[in-house]
Amino acid sequence: MSKHKSTIFTITGMHCIACANRLEEKIKKLDGVTKIIVNFISGSAAIDFYPSIVKEEDIIAIANKMGFSLTPESTTLSYENTFNKEFILVIISWILTSILMIPMLLGYHHYMSTTFPYLGIIVAGATIFIPGLPIVKSATKSLFSGVMGMDFLITLGALAAWVSSLLPLFGIKIPDYSVTASMLITVNLTGRLLESMARGTASKAISALANFSGKYAHLVSTDGTVTEILVQDLKIGDTIQVKSGEKIPTDGTIIEGRTSTDESFLTGESLPIEKKPGDYAYGGAINLDGFITMHVERDSQNNMLAQTIKLIKEAQGTKVPIQILADNITVIFVPIILTISFLSFATWFAFPNFFPDTMSQFGFNYDTSSRFASALSAAIAVLVIACPCALGLATPMALVNGSTLGAKKGVLIRRGRAVQHLCDIDIIALDKTGTLTIGKPKVTNIISIDGHSETLGILVGLEKSSIHPIAHAVLTYAKEHHIEAKDLEHITNNPGQGIQGTFDQIEWFAGSLKATREQEITISEELQEMIGKQIALHETLVCLSNMHTKNCELVLSFSDSLNPEAKESMNQLKAMGKKIIMVTGDHKNAAHAVAKELDITSVMYECSPKQKLETIQSLQQQNYKVCFVGDGINDAAALEQANVGIAMGTGTDIAAESGDVILVTGSLTSLVLSFKVAQATFRKIKQNLFWAFFYNCVAIPAAFLGLLHPVTAEIAMTFSSLTVIGNSILLSKKKLS
Ligand code: ADP
Ligand code: MG
Repeated sequence: MSKHKSTIFTITGMHCIACANRLEEKIKKLDGVTKIIVNFISGSAAIDFYPSIVKEEDIIAIANKMGFSLTPESTTLSYENTFNKEFILVIISWILTSILMIPMLLGYHHYMSTTFPYLGIIVAGATIFIPGLPIVKSATKSLFSGVMGMDFLITLGALAAWVSSLLPLFGIKIPDYSVTASMLITVNLTGRLLESMARGTASKAISALANFSGKYAHLVSTDGTVTEILVQDLKIGDTIQVKSGEKIPTDGTIIEGRTSTDESFLTGESLPIEKKPGDYAYGGAINLDGFITMHVERDSQNNMLAQTIKLIKEAQGTKVPIQILADNITVIFVPIILTISFLSFATWFAFPNFFPDTMSQFGFNYDTSSRFASALSAAIAVLVIACPCALGLATPMALVNGSTLGAKKGVLIRRGRAVQHLCDIDIIALDKTGTLTIGKPKVTNIISIDGHSETLGILVGLEKSSIHPIAHAVLTYAKEHHIEAKDLEHITNNPGQGIQGTFDQIEWFAGSLKATREQEITISEELQEMIGKQIALHETLVCLSNMHTKNCELVLSFSDSLNPEAKESMNQLKAMGKKIIMVTGDHKNAAHAVAKELDITSVMYECSPKQKLETIQSLQQQNYKVCFVGDGINDAAALEQANVGIAMGTGTDIAAESGDVILVTGSLTSLVLSFKVAQATFRKIKQNLFWAFFYNCVAIPAAFLGLLHPVTAEIAMTFSSLTVIGNSILLSKKKLS
């Protein structure tokens, strides 16, 4: 299979959610494209594709044809450029409109229209086709592609007003609509500018994370000289120096010096974190008080910060189930509005006195001097007041702000749906090792009958290829005690059970007591007795067995400390009404010891990854909504099966983790926070949707009844989408207690 490529593109030319959906649908259908997520708010798209089947240029060309321009993303956004262009259009538009508006406001309207009878038509035409050209163009393109959005409605409204201002030239007596035509475009452009500024602020909050990485790094070359280079030119394996007060350029391991760092940009936790040689430091963190030398482990494009930004951007383009209704409505919105607009014209034209007569009972007064004018005014008002935009923005705007809020606290929401599902979770199932415990077990005892110099080397050789916390403990022990790893072959990992491989033609297996027994391996009585003592101490065990002789040769015991945040977090979750259960691969005693400490009453132990999955399935069959919290690499199946999977970040490679939510630093406090962030975000989504529906339900009938002038209608429309945006931005300022 050829190589898969995943690129983030910056998009310009996208004016409403319908545009985003249109682009997504089209690109998704291309051969070779495996995934596309368009993020309307930040104006970007994450596309996964096989370059051997479809070229990047082809994707760009197709988007171009639809009126969008895609550029593979560099770290600087093209936001500034589009902003300047939009700003100039707004200015031109206001200048043109004021040529018509100022005389009107000063009472010279009659004088102007008799002296310069064509002025209105020319100026309104100029407004529509010069500053308004992008709107007209996008409307035309959407007409051909069949999914019409806001631009189509506004263009139609403005054109209708403009064309009717031609009618007096043919002796048809109606009021002059040229000012209206010009105003509609101007208000719309202004609203769009405000909107993109507000959207910019929201998406900039994420891009602002990128500013956390410094610009320069001090590279130490092999001869010891130090040169300054750009952070993006650092390569894995480079040695760098970081002075106190400087930002750490990229992720790496400290090889010399001690310091403390501020990692609050990733975790939201501002307490300094002590670092010593051997510890991992993140690019973007501030080196507070020491001089350190580091070994670069990840370049600036793939470090934790870069991965975080990429994941958030992708996530913000994903859907939340509740928005399906709004999305479906935005698709059929335009045809419905066209129909209503036509009906209002027809009703007003056929029965010019019907609404004025009926409504006068409620105290409304109408100017009924021209039946055509009333009909036209109502029809245009319906066109321009309808706001699919507010509906379309309601969910993504809240999601963007909610996920940014989460990211600042170390909660990475990878899929939008998690925001909704987290709100109705009944049961939280937690893994033990690395979740409720800190996941840094230490070897406490080595038990063998005939000495262990040879066998321990075999175990180390096996664990070298595992990322399990236990493997880490074995390797640390080996390093401290200078134990050489043997070279093993054909190593296979059985998650939740153990690991096996061959040495000197003999197969060896290292794994849990249960997995060892299941393979019918003999454990001598002497060993059994010693194992029993360790079990009584609630320690985790690993048995190393010779699979040829079917004999257990070596047993290691480990102890891990409880996650210091576990107790408090479990109490808070219980207080939120969640039921807690523990699901672990460890043996009964070790499991119960931790459960007792945390007052967890439901415990499932000796579960293989498959049994963890089945446990969740069976709870779901009993109609419970289940959230599983575990380490993202070992417990992938359970994480996927759960209604919401929350992965405890292992701290280096979040992109490799499964799960709907990632707790970047594996902190249990952020587990509680993820529920709070989700609740706040979902509440905001519901509010936004309510207002957007409410607005359209009230505004459209009002326009239909002729209660609103078209320009007032357009202002109301702009206001409604700005409200949704503004309301969402409040979310990112929210304090979570
Ligand atoms: P938990 O559910 O507590 O996170 P796991 O399911 O990851 O635990 O593992 C369960 C048991 O399987 C461990 O307690 C250990 O005995 C054994 N095991 C898992 N991985 C390994 C490994 N790499 N080497 C040795 N034993 C392992
Ligand atoms: Mg685990």
